[in-house]
Amino acid sequence: MCAPTRDLANSSSGRAAWTELSSEIRSCQLCALGKTRTNAVVYRGGTAPWIVFVGEAPGAAEDRSGLPFVGRSGARLDAAIARLGLGSEEYGVLNVLKCRPPNNRFDAAAARTCRPYLDRQLGLLRPRVLVPLGRHALRALDPEAPPILRSAGRSIRDGPPSIFPLLHPAATLRSRRWAERWEQDVDALSRWLPGAKPPYRAEA
Ligand code: SF4
Repeated sequence: MCAPTRDLANSSSGRAAWTELSSEIRSCQLCALGKTRTNAVVYRGGTAPWIVFVGEAPGAAEDRSGLPFVGRSGARLDAAIARLGLGSEEYGVLNVLKCRPPNNRFDAAAARTCRPYLDRQLGLLRPRVLVPLGRHALRALDPEAPPILRSAGRSIRDGPPSIFPLLHPAATLRSRRWAERWEQDVDALSRWLPGAKPPYRAEA
């Protein structure tokens, strides 16, 4: 059985490791994106999230603010989170790639260099549910998963952590068809989620 979700606020070692990791990411220059970013984008959410939404890479608004999913895509994600009834301490949001790629084009080579940060974040947070948003995040979390259009809207791996993919919110802003699909998939997540919710409060 997987270790329970860790509450970073109540674990001095966990909190110290998280703070150190976050500052390492913010000052990272391991790949070329470190030269062009305004801010590395680390995380937003609670200290003991049992569900973590994993995006692909920061966009312009995220690069400016240093926070993931704060633009129009973020508004769409936040509306879904509200619909799922998640409290502010229950969820977290982060990206596979921590720095904005030029022209918002996902940079697979940079993502490989950046990957240890994602693994270390998830290792500290230990969520029960991962929600990859879009195909690059899905590939990062489960390289064997069916394509995003076949994976989205259902649990593709029993956990913890379970994996329940959704389309990327940005794609749903560009197409009515994907917007409708997004609503259906969020409804499916809403029906599935109660069975995955932890029966306990987080431990240190
Ligand atoms: S994208 Fe990742 S590896 Fe590249 S500079 Fe940013 S934090 Fe470092």
